[in-house]
Amino acid sequence: MFEFGTSEHLGDISYFYGKPIDITKLKVDVLSDVRKKLQNVGDQIKTLQTTYPAVQQTSCYICKDSASVPCAEVYGFTYVRCATCGHTYTTERYSEQDLLDFYKNSTFYSTQTYGNPASHQYRIDHVARPKMEFLEYFTKGKGRLLDGGSGIGDIPLVAKQSGWDATGIEVSKDSVQFGTEQLGAPLLQGSFMEHLDLIEERALDAVTLIGFLEHTIDPIHFLQQVYTKIKPGGHIMIQVPSADSFASMIQASFPQNVFRHMVPMDHYQLFSKDSLDRALEQTGYTIRGYWFHGLDLYELMNHLSIMHPESAGTDSPLFQTFLEHMDKLQLVMDQAQKSDRIIVVAQKI
Ligand SMILES: [Zn+2]
Repeated sequence: MFEFGTSEHLGDISYFYGKPIDITKLKVDVLSDVRKKLQNVGDQIKTLQTTYPAVQQTSCYICKDSASVPCAEVYGFTYVRCATCGHTYTTERYSEQDLLDFYKNSTFYSTQTYGNPASHQYRIDHVARPKMEFLEYFTKGKGRLLDGGSGIGDIPLVAKQSGWDATGIEVSKDSVQFGTEQLGAPLLQGSFMEHLDLIEERALDAVTLIGFLEHTIDPIHFLQQVYTKIKPGGHIMIQVPSADSFASMIQASFPQNVFRHMVPMDHYQLFSKDSLDRALEQTGYTIRGYWFHGLDLYELMNHLSIMHPESAGTDSPLFQTFLEHMDKLQLVMDQAQKSDRIIVVAQKI
């Protein structure tokens, strides 16, 4: 059973809040090199902006309404919030093909997140495994599982270890090479949609999309395609960045210091709970459970580090206090459904 803070069960839907985490094991020394990260993200966005033509996004990805309210300006991109469903998105983005090209050749992601070998095992045990256990809370038995946007493959790896016939699809060559060689993760390199097309209908027991749906330019069509490949009774688990999080509020306040969450090249759309519900319901899924847990307090720590580099670093007295109370403070945000990530499990009936 996965570790969480609190839970409630309303009707047929289960809600879980919070997850204990030791941020110092996950992102070692991150608070002392935030400025470097900030510079890296700025450079990546500049590369994207100067290499590929921008595409205008004039209506909501989910409910298609064109009425929206501006909510943040980040690196020259405007984030707007859909007036109907709260889905939040940039008014300019890039084509799927251009983004695939960008991600495929980028060494940015594998080095940013996975550059530190000491954190791999912690990430596998304390980030990936609990997510699989959350999925398994709802599934009966373990069959064929497909993971999209796998990164270095921590989700398909723990799924396989847990008894699933698991495969992960990842577009970045670097991540696939690293995950296959260093971790033994079951990974294939390429486009998720191309691999999905090769799978027969109603063949999959589960599909997991962790930090992936926000990268697609037509999430509704995408979810429909996935639906046809899932067996009746099978499940989908999705993690998306949350528009209504404390992290979003911090970033709207200090957009010049953004290097995660509201980064236009990564998250050109963020989901509200309403837009996530609508996306799943529109495409035929029945929602089974939510898990709200985030790194919003860590986000605040990052921003304080940028503003006060002299007191940055996890050994500063201020951050020691934050770290000491992190789980407790973050749980309060999670219970208010203000976490920067939402994870949902839904079922094809
Ligand atoms: Zn909408």
